[in-house]
Amino acid sequence: MKRSKWDQRIERAEALAEKYPFAEEILRFYKEVANLQKDLYFSFEKIFGEAFNVNENALLDADLNLDPILSRFGEFLSRIQAIAPGPIRASASNLQSQGEPRWRDLLIASWRSSPDSQPAAGDGEALLASMFVQPLAEFAADRSTPQPRSETLAVCPLCNGRPLVGVLRPEGDGAKRSLICSRCATEWAFRRIICPACGEETVGKLAIYTADQFAHVRVEACDSCRYYIKTVDLTKNGHAVPVVDELATIPLNLWAQEHDYIKLRANLLGI
Ligand SMILES: [Zn+2]
Ligand SMILES: [Zn+2]
Repeated sequence: MKRSKWDQRIERAEALAEKYPFAEEILRFYKEVANLQKDLYFSFEKIFGEAFNVNENALLDADLNLDPILSRFGEFLSRIQAIAPGPIRASASNLQSQGEPRWRDLLIASWRSSPDSQPAAGDGEALLASMFVQPLAEFAADRSTPQPRSETLAVCPLCNGRPLVGVLRPEGDGAKRSLICSRCATEWAFRRIICPACGEETVGKLAIYTADQFAHVRVEACDSCRYYIKTVDLTKNGHAVPVVDELATIPLNLWAQEHDYIKLRANLLGI
């Protein structure tokens, strides 16, 4: 059942590309990236097999041997050059010419990087590495069991990554909030009225912004730390796929920027 998540993302990207012309280019690129990531996910399954079941939490395994997947990174770079916009295509072409020793360093750095750090939007090589490593993290996460932890924890219980997007799921007469990890896509429960960046709980300091255009997505911003995260309300739209709807709702990012809020975590396209 978990595997179909790739197809859900791909189909949702296609549907939203038709609906939102302003996001069409980004969504069509994302759709191609998700297709490549889907292939990678299943190839990692073949390459690493059951090895991940042995480790308590493979996501924290800094010594994971990435050599078996280096050649896949070469293929990934070839395929992405056919679909990527100019700057990312140039980075992919440049990286491809550098060969396996350089790929190894880059991928190891990406795998071991602090879950708190993220590639700068202009750093094409780091973005490519994280696009490649992300399905590996997701593959590992799907084979790990999160430790039960406090509900106020604002980082991923599996890999300590920061949340990319919030989700409201129906519960009883209302909705329950959870957060989705930007690195391994694990979803964990999180209280509703609290800033995931700084822990602010004062209602008057937690701003919510919605636009008529996207009734099911809102900006949750904090006036104490100035960070914001988008939350996708599945009680209002059960077809939404949070990581894709997050990408598509660009006008919400613009609103947040205009009001001097900073995104808690950029998505896999560096936005
Ligand atoms: Zn995670
Ligand atoms: Zn805050």
